[in-house]
Amino acid sequence: DLNGILQSMAVAIDKHHLKVEKSFFGNKEVTINKSKVDLILNNLIKNAVSYNKENGQITIEVHHDEVENRLRVSVTDNGIGISQADQERVFERFYRVDRSRSLETGGTGLGLAIVKETLDSLDGNLQIESNLGLGTKFTFEIPL
Ligand code: ATP
Ligand code: MG
Repeated sequence: DLNGILQSMAVAIDKHHLKVEKSFFGNKEVTINKSKVDLILNNLIKNAVSYNKENGQITIEVHHDEVENRLRVSVTDNGIGISQADQERVFERFYRVDRSRSLETGGTGLGLAIVKETLDSLDGNLQIESNLGLGTKFTFEIPL
């Protein structure tokens, strides 16, 4: 679950002095493919940690749309942000934004490609809103 993922991210979060906020709406039990949702969340939270700033903040919102019966989750950071041009490319395998190469956290550039593929397999979708220098919000939705 979300708490388990946050637990394993605690070291990285602590290192960056990040503040994490969680909000949950609705408390009905829902059935999801847990390992797939964990994989998606793990990658999005890892990015929100890696591409954040000292004393940055991460907000995770989980919403169950009972009318449409969809789960909507967003991970928001106030980190380095992604330019409009790069937003179109970050889902490509091995694509990494230049500036992030200089960060101590080296990655493979596969995380978001995997997130996208996993969401496709769940019939879900992924949205990105970002402003360079201000932060990034990833929102995914999956039908339940
Ligand atoms: P991996 O996830 O495989 O360890 P990665 O983090 O580089 O490596 P992706 O998760 O696919 O790969 O992200 C691709 C690129 O998109 C990153 O290198 C980074 O430049 C940019 N990016 C991803 N998430 C964020 C974010 N929350 N804020 C700023 N840039 C981001
Ligand atoms: Mg990543």
